[in-house]
Amino acid sequence: MHETVVAQNMVEAISQEARAHGGRPVRAKISCGQLNAVNDEVLSFAFEAISQGTPCEGMALQVEHKPLQATCKRCGGTFDVVLSNAQCLECQSDEFELLPDAPLLLEEIEFEKE
Ligand SMILES: [Zn+2]
Repeated sequence: MHETVVAQNMVEAISQEARAHGGRPVRAKISCGQLNAVNDEVLSFAFEAISQGTPCEGMALQVEHKPLQATCKRCGGTFDVVLSNAQCLECQSDEFELLPDAPLLLEEIEFEKE
């Protein structure tokens, strides 16, 4: 399952940071695109289970979903793609090229202040 692998990677990355940092992580923010999107609930559940006994235990995870973007072939503008109505927001052209989906990223980790 995609979310389990993601949770596993996050726990490892955050634990490593925690060791280097010497603090207890309390919150982390990750971001993902639309095509490789994670299910927030499934991810939180997996993260909670995997983080048992690690420095990440009990920390909160926030997921930001980044929109899919495209470049318009007519006016050259870049816009967020609305899947239910995919067209350029500037000129309403439906000729566009999708940009690469946002990767899954660990954006920031918040540590408990000493
Ligand atoms: Zn356009």
